[in-house]
Amino acid sequence: MIRLENVNKIYQDERMSVKAVEGITLEVIVKDFMLLTGRSGSGKTTLLSLIGGLTRPTSGIIFFKDTDIWKLNDKRLSHLRNKKIGFIFQFASLIPTLNVRDNLKLPTIFHKVDFDTDKRCEELLETVGLSHKINVYPSQLSGGEQRRVALARSLMNNPDVLLADEPTGDLDEETENEVMDVLHLLNESGMTVILVTHNTKLEKYATKHLKMSHGKLASI
Ligand code: ADP
Ligand code: MG
Repeated sequence: MIRLENVNKIYQDERMSVKAVEGITLEVIVKDFMLLTGRSGSGKTTLLSLIGGLTRPTSGIIFFKDTDIWKLNDKRLSHLRNKKIGFIFQFASLIPTLNVRDNLKLPTIFHKVDFDTDKRCEELLETVGLSHKINVYPSQLSGGEQRRVALARSLMNNPDVLLADEPTGDLDEETENEVMDVLHLLNESGMTVILVTHNTKLEKYATKHLKMSHGKLASI
């Protein structure tokens, strides 16, 4: 589904250059549950944003279903990012003045969608176990519930793959496990998931476990 071939990312300005990702070749297969671990600064976020087409590689090729994504025009590339790939980041937060339903609808207001957004909200809230919270505001939710709503929001456009960058890094262990359980459930129901995490709870479910060290893939 997604393939990286000898991908490098060097951040460069007048004063210095950082090799954030070096010589990475990997493949993500449909329904994979890929764990990505490694120390802070090892290049995990950079790799995830390369996989998701948010960062242009310095060299190497990124294929999404056999399409070289950096050969797409801007319109097609943003279509890919918006519709095919879901992102959830650390500290993913909801808009406090919007209720849960309207927070979920945010990813659908900037472009035309061909599905019933109310129905989709209901389905997703059922998936994350929060159907009864559809009309409440973020301040009326616990931390874990808020993060599960943010997770549902990242799935609003029905992406093919979910990229999660330490989505629970700021949560306590119990709350973190709540979110991890939902990620596991999503993968069980067919979603391809790539997860950056320090949480080992899901290790046993991972189809692939990659470890990064100094921008390279290290063996586990
Ligand atoms: P991780 O997510 O594993 O902590 P990152 O991918 O965020 O690692 O960072 C990898 C390396 O690239 C680090 O040395 C970091 O300082 C550097 N880096 C990340 N983003 C940028 C950027 N936008 N500009 C310059 N250097 C960056
Ligand atoms: Mg990071």
